[in-house]
Amino acid sequence: MRNIGIHEGPFCNFWSLVSSLVMSTSLSFSGSNCRKCITSIAAEWYISRYIGSRYKISIDFVARGLAREGMYGCCSIIDSCSRPREFLVEIHNRLDINTYLEVLFHELIHVKQRVLREHVTKYNKQYWYSRIVSDDTAYEDEPWEVEAHGTESKIYKEFIKWCEELMLPNTITSPNPFSNRLCMN
Ligand SMILES: [Zn+2]
Repeated sequence: MRNIGIHEGPFCNFWSLVSSLVMSTSLSFSGSNCRKCITSIAAEWYISRYIGSRYKISIDFVARGLAREGMYGCCSIIDSCSRPREFLVEIHNRLDINTYLEVLFHELIHVKQRVLREHVTKYNKQYWYSRIVSDDTAYEDEPWEVEAHGTESKIYKEFIKWCEELMLPNTITSPNPFSNRLCMN
């Protein structure tokens, strides 16, 4: 992965200026190293671009050590499988920022699949675009995983491009233009 030199501090300063204008979702954060600022920006960007603002979505982001469970991230529905709007997204709290963003987008792709009903669970059966997916399908062959793994880095690159071109033209490449310690955790 190329090192694009994201510094979380400038993101946070930018975010503090615009968050009141663009928040269409309810996001909450817990856990150590939960990266509230960058996660808010990336989630709002993704949701507005790929899900749309007409759904009232809430996401609880939890940062914790997931290494023992052998994964970097996990997305669960909190409310109902028939009309999912509340999600728990858990992300490993020891990832470099670039990997973190890819994992975050992977989990947000799962949120999108659920909200837009591309992936539906009904009576313990899984459906992908209305077609049943057999229970014995291997993880890597599950169509929602194929899409998430296949598009996470494209979305990550789109996001970085968006940041570089529109958001932080002067601050993104400088080593530490200004710091916001509140948001560095
Ligand atoms: Zn996945």
